[in-house]
Amino acid sequence: MTERTLAIIKPDAVAKGVAGQILSRIEQGGFTLLAAKLIHLSHEQAAGFYIVHRERPFYGSLCSFMTTGPCLALVLEGDDVIRRWRDLMGATDPAKAAPGTIRRDFASSIESNAVHGSDSAESAAFEVSYFFAALEICPR
Ligand code: ATP
Ligand code: MG
Repeated sequence: MTERTLAIIKPDAVAKGVAGQILSRIEQGGFTLLAAKLIHLSHEQAAGFYIVHRERPFYGSLCSFMTTGPCLALVLEGDDVIRRWRDLMGATDPAKAAPGTIRRDFASSIESNAVHGSDSAESAAFEVSYFFAALEICPR
């Protein structure tokens, strides 16, 4: 089934200068790019994005990390794209991520882990609309 997901190349990866390499993997992986935006989140914007994690012990630190510099937000489309993008990202903790995944190759820690991907159709709908207005998304 064709679906959309929100991907983020997080501030650590943009700062390291590997956003292009990650985009290249997205293109080579057969994902269709519908939207892209470089944005430096405020703490309030990061906190709203990660609101589902508000009770987790790492919430404050995660929101601060997400404000350390610009991130590159993307909308990807394709068959089973939510699962396929998370597979390409790899496990949250780069030490546990499989060889060939983006987190294995580019993440520095469980927090500074290079990329984000929506985890369900419901979160994808919320997250895509959090970053992008309808007119900023280019249907194919
Ligand atoms: P994301 O939602 O960013 O795609 P994920 O779904 O793999 O990642 P989540 O459990 O949703 O992981 O956690 C959201 C983010 O919070 C992680 O990507 C990471 O940046 C951070 N995080 C998760 N667990 C920890 C932890 N134990 N310590 C510090 N930061 C963490
Ligand atoms: Mg998640």
